[in-house]
Amino acid sequence: MALSLVPFLWVVLSFTIPLAGAQPEAFVQARKQMVRMQIQARGIHDQEVLEAMRTVPRHQFVPLDYLAEAYRDGPLPIGYGQTISQPYIVAYMTEQVRPKSDFKVLEIGTGSGYQAAVLAEIVDSVYTIEIVKALGQAARQRLRDLNYNNVRVKIADGYYGWAEAGPFDAIVVTAAANYIPPLLIEQLKDGGRMIIPVGSPFQVQMLKLIEKKQDKVRTKNLLPVRFVPFTRQDD
Ligand code: SAH
Repeated sequence: MALSLVPFLWVVLSFTIPLAGAQPEAFVQARKQMVRMQIQARGIHDQEVLEAMRTVPRHQFVPLDYLAEAYRDGPLPIGYGQTISQPYIVAYMTEQVRPKSDFKVLEIGTGSGYQAAVLAEIVDSVYTIEIVKALGQAARQRLRDLNYNNVRVKIADGYYGWAEAGPFDAIVVTAAANYIPPLLIEQLKDGGRMIIPVGSPFQVQMLKLIEKKQDKVRTKNLLPVRFVPFTRQDD
């Protein structure tokens, strides 16, 4: 039954994918269910975050081979050894930085552009950096096609942040670093929050929340997570 739907989806989607806004009802329903069962059920309650997760068409951010799994409760491969994060983790990280409509946010690790789009639904502007050129270019085009005009994508090593665009109200890092890059702390506004997974590649890492107040930096451990590694230009 589930398998027989797959060829049907392929046909429908080959017509609808280029049209932002025109989505098969099945995807809209899949998103509502994703939010109810994976996100609200685990304690995310910020209404704007929930609404953003109901709005962003996650199926447009995954490779066609994974279309049928776009709303599944887990990460998915996006090529180049990278992944789009689990929906719950995207919602959780977004909630933790307490996004507001006037915020300017920096993301490190654009990947598919999904986390950037979720942020862009809520905040004023998103600056996102991707180190893998092909992923950055594809995400830039995808975000443009979906009318996320408040997202800028830069292809660079995010270790250095984006000084010309900063300082930022919040920073979201979606690749696991061995330590917190100091320039990112520098580019955080006073009162700003940063969320980042810290730990060795391919082992369990700790998702940390950093709060900067009057130049004091407070760090709190949130959750054990598993992210792809934060790489450097010369790796
Ligand atoms: N936020 C993404 C998922 C990120 S996967 C999404 O919503 O789809 C982590 C991404 O971080 C990968 O695409 C990887 O190439 C990128 N990355 C790793 N190290 C980086 C660095 N130093 N600077 C910028 N991007 C980096």
